[in-house]
Amino acid sequence: MSDKLFSVKDQVVLVTGGSRGIGKELASAFVRRNAHVIIAGRHKQTLDETATEISTPSNSVSAQICDVSSTDDVELLIESVISQHGRIDTLVSVAGINKRMKAESYTIDEYDSITDINAKGAWIIAQAVGRKMIPQGSGSIINVDSLNTYAPLRGTTPYAMSKASVLMMTRGLANEWGRHGIRVNSIAPGFIHTDLTKKVWADETMRAWGKTNTPLERLGKVSDLVGAAIFLASDASQFMSGQTLRVDGGFTAGINWPVEL
Ligand code: NAP
Repeated sequence: MSDKLFSVKDQVVLVTGGSRGIGKELASAFVRRNAHVIIAGRHKQTLDETATEISTPSNSVSAQICDVSSTDDVELLIESVISQHGRIDTLVSVAGINKRMKAESYTIDEYDSITDINAKGAWIIAQAVGRKMIPQGSGSIINVDSLNTYAPLRGTTPYAMSKASVLMMTRGLANEWGRHGIRVNSIAPGFIHTDLTKKVWADETMRAWGKTNTPLERLGKVSDLVGAAIFLASDASQFMSGQTLRVDGGFTAGINWPVEL
């Protein structure tokens, strides 16, 4: 990266949910820009395969099992990162799940698993990282919420509730930790093709609907989120905190008529 403003070189970057989908792509983008990257997720084999795949000859990625909804796992992860690197410059908090169904059909266990990972897990990891960033006097935390945060799609109410919690956490932590030099922002992706969404977008009617209602007339790719993440981790966003970047092809900009005008 020749422009220092957007440089993330030598940063220590922790990516939760870094084994697949959006997290994997963002982790890879930081590796290619010479950051020291640690990826975390719940499954060792996927993590190890991803770490091997996105490492470069000169920049090796570390992988560690961590369920973000477990305070013990998160504590171990953070201590291991600190003992290896001495600091954490950027947290990219991507880990998340969804389960789509009618509101009346969720069991309390299904509700809990969504909330525990998306809302509580995001809090646990942010708090643990924040405790290290405060004495450092610097850091960037990048959360991931959703277009559901603002206007829930049918069949996603617990997910939307959990992501609304991430939005408020982003603002609350930005407000509390700005004095320590820590910036906290979030990215709200639109419809991005990943394991999480492949079932939805396998349906032709859904694909047509997504395309028609997105001003840029296509679904998103994981690579569409790289620019926003590098921006939020770098000095290019040094006076930005508590904000959400919507990377959704314009989906949340307006509502379309069902006929051509
Ligand atoms: P994905 O392909 O299913 O990947 C999810 C990642 O999170 C995996 O690496 C997964 O690894 C990890 N993960 C899940 N639960 C975890 C836990 N408890 N602890 C640690 N890691 C965990 O999903 P994605 O589409 O990339 O989504 C990533 C994030 O973007 C989520 O927060 C999602 O809500 C958000 N988002 C996605 C879209 C979209 O259209 N795809 C849109 C808006 C927002 P393991 O399963 O091995 O743990």
